Amino acid sequence: MKPGSTLIVSFDGLRPDRVTADLMPNLAAFMAEGVRFANARSVFPSETRVAVTSTFTGNPPRWHGMIANRFRHAAVPEEPVRTGLVEDLLRVAGRGPLIHRPALGDRLAAAGRSMVVVSTASTGATHMMNPNAVTNGHETFCCHPTPDMSPTLKAEAEALLGPVPETARPNNARIDYARRVLTDIVWPTRDPDVAVIWMNDPDLTSHAFGVRAPETEASQRLTDAAFGEILAGWRAGRGPEHLIVMSDHGQITGSATASPDMDLPAEYRDRLVSGVFNGLWLDDPAPADLARAVDVLSEMPWCGLVFTGRAGAPAVPGTLPFPLVGQGHALAPPIAFTLRSTGPDEASDAGAERRYFTEGIDIGGGMHGGLNRGELATVLAGAGPQFRAGFVSDTPCWLPDITPTVLALLGLSTEDTSGRVLAEAFADGPEPPRAAQTVNSVEHRGFQQHLAVWDVEGKSVIDCGWTAGTGAWR
Ligand SMILES: [Zn+2]
Repeated sequence: MKPGSTLIVSFDGLRPDRVTADLMPNLAAFMAEGVRFANARSVFPSETRVAVTSTFTGNPPRWHGMIANRFRHAAVPEEPVRTGLVEDLLRVAGRGPLIHRPALGDRLAAAGRSMVVVSTASTGATHMMNPNAVTNGHETFCCHPTPDMSPTLKAEAEALLGPVPETARPNNARIDYARRVLTDIVWPTRDPDVAVIWMNDPDLTSHAFGVRAPETEASQRLTDAAFGEILAGWRAGRGPEHLIVMSDHGQITGSATASPDMDLPAEYRDRLVSGVFNGLWLDDPAPADLARAVDVLSEMPWCGLVFTGRAGAPAVPGTLPFPLVGQGHALAPPIAFTLRSTGPDEASDAGAERRYFTEGIDIGGGMHGGLNRGELATVLAGAGPQFRAGFVSDTPCWLPDITPTVLALLGLSTEDTSGRVLAEAFADGPEPPRAAQTVNSVEHRGFQQHLAVWDVEGKSVIDCGWTAGTGAWR
């Protein structure tokens, strides 16, 4: 066990209100034991690869440039980058920088420290946990074939555990396999400074069945059981000094399908990369072109919040400026919008405002990516010798704060991170900083957009966004 060493355990798509003592007894007990961050948030868009990159660079997309799960990239103009596929990411990396801030693994390598990633997530998400793992001399174990895979770790896993089981919903066979790679191989033989175990449930199961479905609850119990094995080993003195448990975003249950590709004027269709986060990639638009797009979008029943103002440009009227949501990298589209999802989280709330989604999720399935608080709220907790015990921190925090906090535990520099060291959670830390919330609002012809953002010592954390009214002024 190395001083300051830390294991990051991620439950993909786990919304914090779903962590109950009944469904997840090990996680609930752990969160009560150390520090629980009661106002933890994802980034925007609340999509996995954006969240992973923000977590492991300590910056929101405005600075690292991984702006969405799927987006047009100037270096590969042929077709949108599908960030879940490592081959797409490597194509970008072959033509220019993949990201524009160093990752945690790069910082650790420069300091002579070790890192191991064990993941059941996609090859793309796994890659972004330590994008230069191979050149950093770090090991990665992924349940999918990928050039990131450490051949040594793969051979050791197969010798001890046999082949990787097939994926399933719930994905417990794979998650148990990955857990054993961590506790039965990595811990006794590697003892890394930083380890990551990324479990792609409950996200995978919740997408298919919905946030509160029995299948999703079963996946929560099973991921909690895997965590229980990690926790038991750690309490027995195995593994690292510190445990940080997180989720990358929440989920809400979708109630209606939107088809921006079909509904928008024909001239926009081949300019659109749709999802919960939608980019409209107009070529060098003049302000009047953007104003017209705002008029069109405001009329759409599925339109959520609209953003403009990439790379320091001013936002056009009727939209919110990208930097308010930690966006606006030069790689961002000139105009982006979310799908409307302002109602409560429950699909069963008939008559509530609809929560729209696209892309192969059945009605009643879970989704994320937007600014609904149910999508943005995350699990975050830490325990170990440098953390306080039995402490609930109300101070708002978000994914970019995780890498600076891990670096602080290891005594390393946090330069070039824009997240905050969550020092108020440390046993010898200061009093919690002051946090103030501002609601930013714009209205365009009766269509209202609102975005609640906290300021914590000059650093922003997004709480949530919502819309009201319609733009149907004609
Ligand atoms: Zn995710």
